[in-house]
Amino acid sequence: MPEPDVAELLELDRRHVWHPYGPMPGKQRPLVVESAAGVRLRVAGHGELVDGMSSWWSAIHGYNHPVLNEAARGQLERMSHVMFGGLTHEPGVRLVERLVDMSPEGLEHVFLADSGSVSVEVALKMCLQYWRSLGRPEKRRMLTWRGGYHGDTWQPMSVCDPEGGMHGLWAGVLPEQIFVDAPPSGGYDEAYAQRLREAVERRAHEVAAVIVEPVVQGAGGMRFHSPAYLRVLREACDAHGVLLVFDEIATGFGRTGELFAAGHAGVSPDVMCVGKALTGGYLTMAATLCTARVAEGISRGEVPVLAHGPTFMGNPLASAIACASIDVLLGQDWRGEVKRIEAGLGEGLAEARELDGVRDVRVLGAIGVVQLDHEIDMAAASRAAIAEGVWLRPFRDLVYTMPPFVTSDEDVARIGRAVCAAAREG
Ligand SMILES: *Cc1c(COP(=O)(O)O)cnc(C)c1O
Repeated sequence: MPEPDVAELLELDRRHVWHPYGPMPGKQRPLVVESAAGVRLRVAGHGELVDGMSSWWSAIHGYNHPVLNEAARGQLERMSHVMFGGLTHEPGVRLVERLVDMSPEGLEHVFLADSGSVSVEVALKMCLQYWRSLGRPEKRRMLTWRGGYHGDTWQPMSVCDPEGGMHGLWAGVLPEQIFVDAPPSGGYDEAYAQRLREAVERRAHEVAAVIVEPVVQGAGGMRFHSPAYLRVLREACDAHGVLLVFDEIATGFGRTGELFAAGHAGVSPDVMCVGKALTGGYLTMAATLCTARVAEGISRGEVPVLAHGPTFMGNPLASAIACASIDVLLGQDWRGEVKRIEAGLGEGLAEARELDGVRDVRVLGAIGVVQLDHEIDMAAASRAAIAEGVWLRPFRDLVYTMPPFVTSDEDVARIGRAVCAAAREG
């Protein structure tokens, strides 16, 4: 293949291509990735960069993985897609079987969605429809804590952090949900737990479901909280007739040191979303899992069906790769690998604690975060990371990393140096 004309690509990109959360025309010059293998991105003009981001939590096994490639090739030869209405296929069924087996107890039914945001839409629709079917249409609000992120489509946006999620822009247009304070980081705070209980009790008459990211709030601020709050929510929801939704799109598939973050608390939600790492970062796919109680409730209603059906629902190619990705994950000592990365990040980021302008350094599972006391200079921070040979994408006041689980100790150390450099220069 001829070398791409990088200058031309960048000019076309700037003029025509929307990037995430970007202006038009583009202001920042993106890097041009030519290929990727293992934990390295080959970037035009920069050589190889170690990927500290796993392409937004998804590429847990690294890039160009032989087993995932083989699954893709094998499925491609059979069919890359057929509709899921009236038809079914082995990769889709086998994927659902795996998800039911590996997920917290009680989650038995699976809706295969085409992105994380859509899986959250489906989760919220399930909860709203459950109460409608039971003759309780007034239970139509969601309750959540601040600092969350659940996606960029309409219902998910309404439960994102009201400050970080641009709620101001959409006041009067977004559905109005109920927010409690963000969970305190650090240890368990009984006073906060009591406020959670009271909020659920006080608003239960109008609340369909509580939705939260368990243990780690991702794009809303990379904050960690005590798993004990999940038990508090489970008990309060059960006591007052409210459903509980865990959005495990970022935390699922081992990232926090448990297969699902709910495992830190030993709690099962009524509805759970997974995405991101589901296909090992190969293709867009997500899933919404629910209990028999939720499914039966919906089925007893006046409209006894879940009216949702994306065109690419259950995509066989994505399903086959997801099956392979789950098998690769479960076929190795993933817990050991995540612990190893946790230890390496703990060591590598320790030095950031001494830096001026650093407010907090935290590590959980294969997630490392340096929080500054100021808005980061993204361009300067990225440059500093690239100079260390690492790709990072800092945002707001955060330099953070969630590397692929296959990252070697040496590369974890390199990522640590890059995070510190970005924190220093940003
Ligand atoms: C990324 C993310 C989403 C949205 O998923 P998309 O695939 O980007 O639509 C929802 N919830 C959480 C917790 C996420 O991290």
